[in-house]
Amino acid sequence: MKSVAIIGAGITGLTAAFYLKRKGIPVTVHEAGGRTGGVIQSIRRDGFLAEGGPNTLLETSPKIAQLVRDAGLASRRLDSDPQAGARYVVRYRRPIAMPPSQLGIFTSELLSAKAKFALLREPFVPRRRDGREESIAEFVVRRLNREFLDQMIDALVAGIYAGDPHKLSVQQAFPRLAELEARYGSLIKGQIFGARERKRRGEIAKDRAPKFTFDEGLQVLTDTLAAQLGNVVKLNSPVTKLTQTAGGWRVSTAAGDMEHGAVIYCGTAHKLAELNVAIGGTALTSTVNLSPFSEIRYPPVASVVLGFRREDVAHPCQGYGMLIPKIEGFKILGTIFSSSLFPNRAPAGHLTLTSYVGGERQPDLASRPADELVALTCEDLRVLLGVKGRPVFEHTMLYPKAIPQYNVGYGRYRELMNVIETQAAGLFLAGHYREGVSLGDSIVSGSNVVERVETFLTTE
Ligand SMILES: Cc1cc2nc3c(=O)[nH]c(=O)nc-3n(C[C@H](O)[C@H](O)[C@H](O)COP(=O)(O)OP(=O)(O)OC[C@H]3O[C@@H](n4cnc5c(N)ncnc54)[C@H](O)[C@@H]3O)c2cc1C
Repeated sequence: MKSVAIIGAGITGLTAAFYLKRKGIPVTVHEAGGRTGGVIQSIRRDGFLAEGGPNTLLETSPKIAQLVRDAGLASRRLDSDPQAGARYVVRYRRPIAMPPSQLGIFTSELLSAKAKFALLREPFVPRRRDGREESIAEFVVRRLNREFLDQMIDALVAGIYAGDPHKLSVQQAFPRLAELEARYGSLIKGQIFGARERKRRGEIAKDRAPKFTFDEGLQVLTDTLAAQLGNVVKLNSPVTKLTQTAGGWRVSTAAGDMEHGAVIYCGTAHKLAELNVAIGGTALTSTVNLSPFSEIRYPPVASVVLGFRREDVAHPCQGYGMLIPKIEGFKILGTIFSSSLFPNRAPAGHLTLTSYVGGERQPDLASRPADELVALTCEDLRVLLGVKGRPVFEHTMLYPKAIPQYNVGYGRYRELMNVIETQAAGLFLAGHYREGVSLGDSIVSGSNVVERVETFLTTE
C-alpha cells in the first residue's frame, strides 16, 4: 500500500493519521510548529486547568464518541454536569438565564413583547425563493426582527465564530437555519417537524448534543493520538511544496523530499495559500493557484482564563456560561463557567472562568499585553458577575488567526477546494476551513477523508 503524507497535526490531521494507520496504510505527519494539537492547548497549574483554545467537544456525530473509544480514552472522558446546562445572555448589563424550554422564552425578560410577537408571527413570514445568499443578520431581521439580531444572534455568533453577523453567511455558516426555511418555510415549524426527523435519523442537534472533555482537558485527545502515532509525526517540519509525480506526490520540507501516494492538507486556509503546489508531472507542470485562500478572514482571539476564590464572586456561576451581545458595550465576548461545566478545573473553594476577547467585534483588543487583558476582563466580570479582588490564577493565550469566518461569498472557496481536488488527483483538503469550524466538525472531517483517500489509493 502506498503511503500518505498528512500536513498539520491539529485534531483533523491526527484523526486522519490515526485511522489511516489503523487500516495499515503508512503515514507521515508534518507539523509546522513544535507541538501537536493545533489550537487545542490544555494547561494544568496550581490546581487549575486552563484551556487556551477550545473548551468543549459537542457530540454531534457518532464518529466523535467512536474516536474516543478507538483511542482508548472512554475512561478519561468527562461529560458536563447535566445541572450545568443553564446559559446566560447579558441584557440590561446583567446575565439573564435562557429559559430551559423553547416555550419559556415567552415569559423571559430576555426579549421585549415586540420580539415575542415577532416569534409568533415567524411561521407566517414567506420563505425567500430567489436563492440569493444572505448574511445571518439579514436573515434574522427578515424572519424575526432587529431586536432578535442585536440581543440573541449577535451574542450567539460571538460565541461560535467570534464573528460579525452582518458578514457571516446564513447558507455557509448556519446551513441548518437556511435549510429549515427552505424545507419547512419557517424556523419554528422546522424546529418542531425537523426534531422528529432528526430523531428518526439518529442525529443530534448542536443545542442538545452531549458536551464533554477529558480529565486533563481536551489536549488529552490530541496527545493520545500523537503518542499512538509515534515517530511518524515530524515536528518543526513545515511543508513548503507539493509536486505531483508519476506515482503520486513529492512532499518538500527543509529536511528534504519524500514520495507518497496521496497527501491530505489539514492545516489552516491562510497557510494553504502559501503552499506551492505543482501538478501535471515534469513535462506539463503548472502551479495550482491557492492565493484566493489568503482572503479568508481569521480574526484574532485571546482567551483569558482566571481563577477566583469562591467568596470573591457574587454570582453562583452555575451553568455553561454567558454570551454577551455587542449592544451591551462590554469588552469580553463571553465567559464559560469552566469549573461548573466540568469537575476538577479549580481547587476546592475556587472557580475558573474562561473569557474571550477580540474577534471581529474588537480585533485590536486581542493583542493587548496579558496584564491589560486580565484587567479589562476583571472589570467586565466585576460588573456582570460581582467579582471582587484580584484573581488567584491567570492564564492568557493569543490566537492571532483564530477561527475562519464563513462570510457571504465563502461558497466560492468551497467550490475552489472541489476544483483543486479534481485537478490535483491525490491531494485532499480537510478540516475546520472546509466542513465546519467546531472541534466535532474537524473530527468528522478527519474521519471522512480517510475513506476518500483509501478509495483513491485502491482504485488508482
Ligand atoms: C480560541 C478558540 C476557541 C475554540 N473553542 C471551541 C470549542 O469550545 N468547541 C469547539 O467545538 N470548537 C472550538 N474551537 C474551534 C476548534 O478548536 C477548531 O475548529 C479545531 O480545533 C481545528 O482543528 P484543525 O486540526 O482543523 O486545525 P488546527 O488546530 O488549526 O491545526 C492545523 C495545524 O496545521 C499546521 N500547519 C499549517 N500549515 C502547515 C504546513 N504547511 N506544514 C505543516 N503544518 C502546517 C498548523 O501549525 C497547525 O498545528 C475554538 C477555536 C479557537 C481558536
